[in-house]
Amino acid sequence: MTVDAANGATGEGSTPSGPILVVEDEEALVGAICYQLQREGFDAVSAVDGLRGLDLFRERAPVLVILDLMLPHINGLDLCRIIRGESEVPIIILTAKDAEADKVAGLEIGADDYVTKPFSMRELVTRVRAHLRRASMASGARSEGEGGNLVAGPIQMDTQRHEVYVRGRLIELPPKEFALLEAFMLRPGKLVTRQILLSEVWGVEYFGDTRTLDVHIKRLRAKIEEDPRRPEHVKTVRGLGYKLQL
Ligand code: CA
Repeated sequence: MTVDAANGATGEGSTPSGPILVVEDEEALVGAICYQLQREGFDAVSAVDGLRGLDLFRERAPVLVILDLMLPHINGLDLCRIIRGESEVPIIILTAKDAEADKVAGLEIGADDYVTKPFSMRELVTRVRAHLRRASMASGARSEGEGGNLVAGPIQMDTQRHEVYVRGRLIELPPKEFALLEAFMLRPGKLVTRQILLSEVWGVEYFGDTRTLDVHIKRLRAKIEEDPRRPEHVKTVRGLGYKLQL
């Protein structure tokens, strides 16, 4: 039912063609979210329990799902798992402030992002826009067979917009760290030597201290690794360089 508007070569996102589905059992909150989304020009549909949410998901093919985790009938985690089994649609989960385990579980079963209650509508709408843009970029890149979107494991990079998402969250990277990560993303799983990194990121004529590279790798790891002291993405290849593990 979605109409795939022609994706321009500019990489600008097209207007979403389906509604945003909001599943949340607090009626005042669901009303407020839908009101805000509609004010921002989105079509929004809502359900106050998991079963109705699943029905609506299947009927309306939403472009994005905002999903509360504590729901009657089918809980949010189960619904998230079912939706992810059927679709790549971006899913933003709403979690309680003290529910760290739920948040992690949600991301592990395929949610793209989370927003912790209480949240501002502005924050939620910003996340919605970012995920729609990314989804649109990804489909644009797929349909063009190229594009500014690089994906390696949980890391997604939009080179045109200069944005990096790790496990669904937007992270800030200064230019050198961005360039370093890009050098890895262009060669996923392959050795990238120190010489290549120095010449691509600092320029072929770079004669500075190569410890600069180590410092930047350390900063990059601090932002993208879950445990920077035991990196699982940017791996050291002793004596040679690094590689981006998938
Ligand atoms: Ca709830």
